[in-house]
Amino acid sequence: KAEKYMDLRSPICYILGHVDTGKTKLLDCIRCTNVQRGEAGGITQQIGATFFPIENIRERTKELKAGAALHVPGFLVIDTPGHQSFSNLRTRGSSLCDIAILVVDIMRGIQAQTIEYLNILERHKADFIIVLNKVDRLFGWKRCPNAPIKKALKQQAEGVKMEFDARLTDIVMQFKMQGINTILYYRNKEIDCTYKNIVPTCAISGEGIPDLLLLLVQWAQKKMKERLIFSNNIECTVLEVKVTEGHGTTIDVVLANGFLREGDQIVTCGMQGPIVTHIRALLTPHPMKELRIKCPYQHHKEIKASQGIKISAPPGDDQEKSVNKAMAEMAVLMNRIDKNNDGVYVQASSLGSLEALIEFLKNPAVNIPVYDFNIGPVHRKDVMKASVMLEKKKEYAAIFAFDVKVMPDAHEIANESSVKIFVADVIYHIFDQFTTYIEGLRE
Ligand code: GDP
Ligand code: MG
Repeated sequence: KAEKYMDLRSPICYILGHVDTGKTKLLDCIRCTNVQRGEAGGITQQIGATFFPIENIRERTKELKAGAALHVPGFLVIDTPGHQSFSNLRTRGSSLCDIAILVVDIMRGIQAQTIEYLNILERHKADFIIVLNKVDRLFGWKRCPNAPIKKALKQQAEGVKMEFDARLTDIVMQFKMQGINTILYYRNKEIDCTYKNIVPTCAISGEGIPDLLLLLVQWAQKKMKERLIFSNNIECTVLEVKVTEGHGTTIDVVLANGFLREGDQIVTCGMQGPIVTHIRALLTPHPMKELRIKCPYQHHKEIKASQGIKISAPPGDDQEKSVNKAMAEMAVLMNRIDKNNDGVYVQASSLGSLEALIEFLKNPAVNIPVYDFNIGPVHRKDVMKASVMLEKKKEYAAIFAFDVKVMPDAHEIANESSVKIFVADVIYHIFDQFTTYIEGLRE
């Protein structure tokens, strides 16, 4: 009974998976269903993070007759595209990810990024649920909007059931080859960590969504209680730094524990050293039904974890103060590359994404050396630096611009000097472009 009075934070849940498996669509699906029912009020679309209040999850899982009491306030689900989010999970604090949802396309099975994510989850001993999405792609699938998956499967023709079983068996096998035991969740007698649960879903018409939500809830009840006790020690991770209209430079963060308050002092890590500043405004988007109003953000005096927040802060009050801790991460990154080596020049929008990119390139299967890096838009001076390779190793006279703008003057000088600039917001796309380019050179 004491649990009832315990102060719990919402579990933080990452949604991961190969590109196009339907991660965003799954979240949309959960949100939209509620919009259609006219209960949009409870759900807030956060910045790269969505807060799902518990009342809402109860409503959505009614048909499964779970009925159990739950004392977490809801779930904070993080859907930031690809590797960027994951590098944050990897390097910063464990409570940023309490559980992961690993999405697999039932028609495609395990793909390259699925394996990468599996390795990282394993390294972090992070628990996860496997979602087998796009069941409606099975030939002849009959839609049963928002039905629990067992019920939906029952209504399918024999041929559909057989294809489902065959694909499920195959995917279970694929996971086994990665050393992971998996099982269709309703055949799993207990919420047991040795078998990872599989939930089949359709993100278009919502089959299996109640099952997914219920599983998350049950899992939190059974396995997470201690971990979810609210603590006043601030744990906060930056997802992204960007310019937001009307607010200047803003920092999108996930607050995993503690409070943030207007006026709090914060330290961030800049290329030229630590920047000490304070929180000017704490912002979250308005609840869904008010999204179209003129000012899209709600101001808060204080916010309690877990929550996705946009922080607005002035450029820095106290440049003098030396805050070595903030610089430690940058130093780590500096150590990962060898400036004496020939290699490409990489550039990304934030420390987290830069880290992810460098890590990816170091992967033995990729193995592209890095000569130097920078954070922010690509300028003329970056092209100048990259052009050093023209003399040394011509194919490395390239800039990988990951999720950053390339300024016109940079384009101009790149064209003149024949430094190649590869731009994309998915790491894999840069890699593909570069590989094609290298192959072209060799021919
Ligand atoms: P993400 O890259 O993992 O976020 O994938 P998206 O959510 O953007 O979905 C990729 C594509 O797959 C989009 O065209 C979606 O409409 C489609 N899609 C996602 N989920 C489903 C599903 O359950 N069934 C079908 N048929 N298509 C889906
Ligand atoms: Mg997406």
